[in-house]
Amino acid sequence: MSSFHTPPYMSPLAITEPVGRAWAHTMESYSPATIEFAGTLIVQLIFFWGPCAIYMSLDALFPKFSERHKIQPAPKQPTRSEILDCLSVVLKNQIISTALHGLLIYISTLTGKGAFRVDASLPPVHEIVRDLIFSLLLREALFYYSHRILHHPRLYPKIHKIHHRFTAPVALAAQYAHPIEQIVANILPITIPPQLLNSHILTFWIFMAYELVETTTVHSGYDFFLNAAKMHDLHHEKFLIYFGAIGVLDWFHGTDGSKMAAKRKAKGGSAAKGVSQEQAGAVKGEKSE
Ligand SMILES: [Zn+2]
Ligand SMILES: [Zn+2]
Repeated sequence: MSSFHTPPYMSPLAITEPVGRAWAHTMESYSPATIEFAGTLIVQLIFFWGPCAIYMSLDALFPKFSERHKIQPAPKQPTRSEILDCLSVVLKNQIISTALHGLLIYISTLTGKGAFRVDASLPPVHEIVRDLIFSLLLREALFYYSHRILHHPRLYPKIHKIHHRFTAPVALAAQYAHPIEQIVANILPITIPPQLLNSHILTFWIFMAYELVETTTVHSGYDFFLNAAKMHDLHHEKFLIYFGAIGVLDWFHGTDGSKMAAKRKAKGGSAAKGVSQEQAGAVKGEKSE
């Protein structure tokens, strides 16, 4: 009598079929431009503001737990007014990015050439994986070099110094930046790679969701997810190390914290002796205002 049936929830088709039907229904109901604009905004609302709300409420809801996991001590944490200022800057940046996205979509409807593929079919799994790996690696390069350029003494005081106001960052500070930095270092490194591949809009949303959770986590100030925030938190605290997100280019260029410490030790010098002209200048710029 008894027979083994694969439970429906175990079958990949059981997941992809309803998703495919819901996606096809959405495509029938709205224009590709509306889907791209509204969907991107929804992803931003859920995956940026969601983690921000969770991380930033920990202090009030679970103070002991929060204190145990904070990377930097309480006296270094931002004040309430600094957080309110952060909120207003982040809102302005999001309005700018949303307006720019709307403009780009409008232009693409005129030219008939969209940056992403918005059609009724679901992207194949191998294509999603390929696009995500490529986008992750190219984003690292674009972010590392644009971030490093922003530390140039001529640019740092005018642009990137704003982002470094939070030496002990909080999740919301991920987008506390000059509008130029918001576009060059935050938006373009995430949007250019999937656009080069003409990725499916769903793949772009998955990538964007991951990057938003990643950036809020590395700015959260907490040691969660195997201390994922450690490198970027140190960048905010010390300025001169860990320019990248995943560490590969920091290792390659010697801006990895441990490599720099080893170099300084070998030279027997102080911390300042281990930094390059460009980095030292950035600190000078930071102090000049
Ligand atoms: Zn940062
Ligand atoms: Zn920086």
